[in-house]
Amino acid sequence: MPQRSALRRGDETRGEVTLSKVHALKQMAQAEIDGMAEVLIAASDQMAREPEIGHQEFKSAALLRDLLAQRGVLSEAGVAGMATAFRAELQGQQVRPRVAILAEYDALPEMGHGCGHNIIGTAAVGAFLALNRVIEQLPGSVALFGTPCEESTAPNAGGKVLFVRAGLFDDVDAAIMVHPGTRTLLSMRSSLAARGFDFHFAGRAAHAAAKPHEGINALDAVILTFNGINALRQHVKSDVRIHGIITHGGAAANIVPAEASCRFRVRAMSTQYLEEVAQKVIRCAEGAALMTGATLEWHEYANPYENLIPNQALNDVAAANLQQLGVTLDPEPVEGGLGSTDLGNVSHKTPATSISISITRDESVRGHSREFAAATVSDSGHAGLILAAKVLAMTAIDLIAKPDVLAAIRAEWQQALQEKG
Ligand SMILES: [Zn+2]
Repeated sequence: MPQRSALRRGDETRGEVTLSKVHALKQMAQAEIDGMAEVLIAASDQMAREPEIGHQEFKSAALLRDLLAQRGVLSEAGVAGMATAFRAELQGQQVRPRVAILAEYDALPEMGHGCGHNIIGTAAVGAFLALNRVIEQLPGSVALFGTPCEESTAPNAGGKVLFVRAGLFDDVDAAIMVHPGTRTLLSMRSSLAARGFDFHFAGRAAHAAAKPHEGINALDAVILTFNGINALRQHVKSDVRIHGIITHGGAAANIVPAEASCRFRVRAMSTQYLEEVAQKVIRCAEGAALMTGATLEWHEYANPYENLIPNQALNDVAAANLQQLGVTLDPEPVEGGLGSTDLGNVSHKTPATSISISITRDESVRGHSREFAAATVSDSGHAGLILAAKVLAMTAIDLIAKPDVLAAIRAEWQQALQEKG
């Protein structure tokens, strides 16, 4: 309630952009997105037909950059040391505030766009192009960051971590993105900090029947790593998740495996506790090496993901825009665990949020599934994409045009960062 009266007051006194002007700019942005709807939907569907996993999103990145180029917006490729990363900038009446809109476009092995990043990428580009129409009337600027490999499916995963490391979020006042799901809402839930480990064991091959005593079984070391970690599970906090796969288990049953490998993802609510658990997981692998006589080599295959710092004030801006678009927000699910996202790292640099947009009402459709990939190209997926582009554009307009709103968002963020530290 107090918020509402503050907005009304703003209408009379706002210096640079009146509320009625903000409203008009949002209308223009929406109309622009409606005009581009077919093109955006076609691009998203095209990405769904040719899904590319992290750091190999060459066609997807080119497709998104083409959409920009077709409307006269230049973009820069190969950002932050990643071939499939890109960025573009729109400058209005001044540089700051500067809002970043984040695009993802990587897919999952075997599941295609089972996480719906085709929608994230095209919605971000749609919003950015709509903002291009109104930016001259806004006292700020917008960056579009094409951030590869959000899914921890490929080495060097976590494109946003590399953007952060390259300093690209240093001059960003807030960062926004969308993520498709079954519900439309702004969440105040965090995400899990996560790290990824590859363990490789080297043993000695031998005839598994004639000379087993001469072999050193690297696969046993892998299995003992799993067993050690399974024993560890009882003695970690309940927010911890440890899950792994065997990436190499030997060549033939009649050869003692000389080489074997496994990959683990380790997650926890806080970065500090994650470090503690990660050390114990590493010791499980070291113990397995000791028991079998195999030698262990390990490395982190993904960039460490930090937990997400949610921001109520930023969420409120996006929620109000969804309501303006006639959307009733869904309740947060009561149950269900947390995942991880490299947006977490961004949220430690600047206030950030991911707006959840429903692309199917069927709650049985799980993320990271073929069914979810199919939902991205359905009618409700297409509608979700257009809604996503609109709410991104409208939220960016608010963030640039309403300095007091942005100040409140940043104050909340500063506070949260301090409490964490
Ligand atoms: Zn995702």
